[in-house]
Amino acid sequence: TNANLFCALRAAFPADLAATAIETGDGPGAPLHYSWADLDAATARIANLLDSLALPPSSRVAVQVDKSVEALMLYLAVLRAGHVFLPLNTAYQASEIEYFIGNAEPAVVVTTTKNFTWVSRIAFTAGVTHVFTLNDDRTGTLLERAAFHGDTQTPAVRGADELAAILYTSGTTGRSKGAMLSHGNLLSNAQVLKGYWGWQQGDVLIHALPIFHVHGLFVASHGALLNGSKMIWFAKYDPKAVLARFGEGTVFMGVPTLYVRLLAEPGLTPEACARMRLFISGSAPLLLETFKDWQTRTGHTILERYGMSETVMLTSNPYRAEDGQRRGGTVGFPLPGVGLRVQDDAGQPLPTGEIGGIQVRGPNVFAGYWRMPEKTQEEFTADGWFKTGDVGRVDADGYVTIVGRSKDLVITGGYNVYPAEVEGFINDMPGVAESAVIGVPHPDFGEAVVAVVVAKPGAPLDGSAISATLKGQIANFKVPKAVFVATELPRNTMGKVQKNLLREQHKALFA
Ligand code: ATP
Ligand code: MG
Repeated sequence: TNANLFCALRAAFPADLAATAIETGDGPGAPLHYSWADLDAATARIANLLDSLALPPSSRVAVQVDKSVEALMLYLAVLRAGHVFLPLNTAYQASEIEYFIGNAEPAVVVTTTKNFTWVSRIAFTAGVTHVFTLNDDRTGTLLERAAFHGDTQTPAVRGADELAAILYTSGTTGRSKGAMLSHGNLLSNAQVLKGYWGWQQGDVLIHALPIFHVHGLFVASHGALLNGSKMIWFAKYDPKAVLARFGEGTVFMGVPTLYVRLLAEPGLTPEACARMRLFISGSAPLLLETFKDWQTRTGHTILERYGMSETVMLTSNPYRAEDGQRRGGTVGFPLPGVGLRVQDDAGQPLPTGEIGGIQVRGPNVFAGYWRMPEKTQEEFTADGWFKTGDVGRVDADGYVTIVGRSKDLVITGGYNVYPAEVEGFINDMPGVAESAVIGVPHPDFGEAVVAVVVAKPGAPLDGSAISATLKGQIANFKVPKAVFVATELPRNTMGKVQKNLLREQHKALFA
């Protein structure tokens, strides 16, 4: 049998191929309706075009285009043709594209007409032979060329262990690494989530995430496709426009900032969400306050889950009440089939409830980093577990809590300080919207704890008052030696706080 992920997704299309698979919620010509037959025919045409290029099997197809239904079709067509999809963040500029193209050596690059001049120069210099364009208004050379090809195609035969995609990590802790994901990694995870989150007949997904990242491309799109469910597709995130469609949806997935922005909409009411079945959050920690505000405003409890480019999804709060309650501030239980353990730096297992490095294994865990054999070896233990780089604990009930990243751990005067713990206390103070705790070089302590705090609109905040309050709450070595009030925290497009930038900004504080 053919383990090509496309075959599994295609097999899940509903019997009525004329039904709407995707309806656009914004963008040129909206609302556009794409049927399941359209998805099948268009992906066949693009796959046939790729076949006609006679590329070596498993060639990389690097794609940096604006979100559109056609961009999703291109992803499916790359799978269908048996090549490797390599999506790139639309924010990347010349130096980044040069690195990714040089590193991945794609056979095909797809860019926009707007960026063609500089992207094609980089691509041709690097020896790429095919550069196509694809714009968000259905124009560009990719579709022009694909239109000459037939609308049926036999999917390439692929084994479960063969490469389906390379996803570059978000680069939150340093240079992005290419995570190599196989057909089997992606399909097994999608199947587990289908069961765990109770995907059902009649579900409609509101898709408002970018598709160059695990969350939007795999978790969201595979969820709907594998269930034969319709998607309402937003290329851009406009909270008002998204909210206006909640009445037609049942499932919504977002990064925490999307929820924060929805909460600012007066129209967010229990009535507006009455048809919705499930709200899922991930990619970055969801503040407890957002979790609680969402319950009050909508009557729904957000389900928080945890995953990463290297592993797709790892843990999830329960969907069904009989499996337990959804606990804010935690990322729930390891998913079925996922092994999760917590170890100390010496590689010894830690007792329940103690904080240490999170390690995982399972059919969803990637094979390694693209062209980084040493890095890959470093990040796997001798007995085959992947070191996630996240620090956390598992409590007696089995709930997993992430307290930060190992690279963010602050060691001050020989004591470990977990930023998330200190941030939790600061965030609970009146007038505080959010905070980031970092370590900066210090001549006596090695590192000193420093906090950057953002005030709620109009709330006056005083750094020294925050330190004073903390002194009554936590051990002195955890209390920041300096507290800065800022207007916002630096974030990347996935809503992750870029602590490396904050550390850089404050590195000379005690020098
Ligand atoms: P890089 O590996 O390049 O530094 P990155 O780790 O941010 O970047 P991704 O693979 O996109 O790149 O993100 C995975 C990380 O996101 C996880 O390791 C974890 O730190 C964080 N994350 C994901 N979901 C959650 C969550 N629910 N709560 C807290 N953190 C989360
Ligand atoms: Mg990472």
